[in-house]
Amino acid sequence: MKCYNCESKIERDVYTGDIGTPLEGRSLCEECYENGDPCAVVFYNQDDTPHRISTSRNETDGEFRVKWRSTDPWRGFYRAYSDNYTPLNSAQILNGHPSQEMLAEFDERTKELFDENGIDNARAFSRSSNPNVHHFDIYARNDQVPIAEQLVTEAKKDVDYDNPKWYRNILFDESTLNILTRLFPERKIQTDFDAASLVDEYGPEIMDEVRKRVGRGSVV
Ligand SMILES: [Zn+2]
Repeated sequence: MKCYNCESKIERDVYTGDIGTPLEGRSLCEECYENGDPCAVVFYNQDDTPHRISTSRNETDGEFRVKWRSTDPWRGFYRAYSDNYTPLNSAQILNGHPSQEMLAEFDERTKELFDENGIDNARAFSRSSNPNVHHFDIYARNDQVPIAEQLVTEAKKDVDYDNPKWYRNILFDESTLNILTRLFPERKIQTDFDAASLVDEYGPEIMDEVRKRVGRGSVV
């Protein structure tokens, strides 16, 4: 028999990809079963025990499943899903970005509030094609979602989650953002997402528009 993953002949035991993994039900060699690429890590409540999900193994016993979501043929990210837990919030953790610390506080604060209110919750950290970007998702048991949502809102206020300063310098550097803010005052650009939607809207004509506005005497 051949390993589904590496296509080599399986000499000894045949392993089967765990439920909820990308290789679920596939026949694998020991090497491919044991050393699948990591997809996500799930934590429950206040417990620090990591439950890892790789392309072949699932330490949540299938309670969480991972799926690859591609944004284009080269890029994408893993997302964790569960029948018992509902996602409440999704954030991107950007290595070395100032928002990283705020998100760590947000994680702590939601855990505290959930604990005080008896909310059964989980959090998942998932990998993307960009080694510097991870997704951080918070989940609550399906029947506790309404209260849990309120607690997430409360935690966001406590850590200043919605402050636009956390959403700058991700795609654009500070000086580019400042130039776009000044040239397109009507857009009230505060975050990288504002600037990105401006660039999206103009498409390839964005540079012509910038030149036009610079020529009109707007300060750069
Ligand atoms: Zn193999």
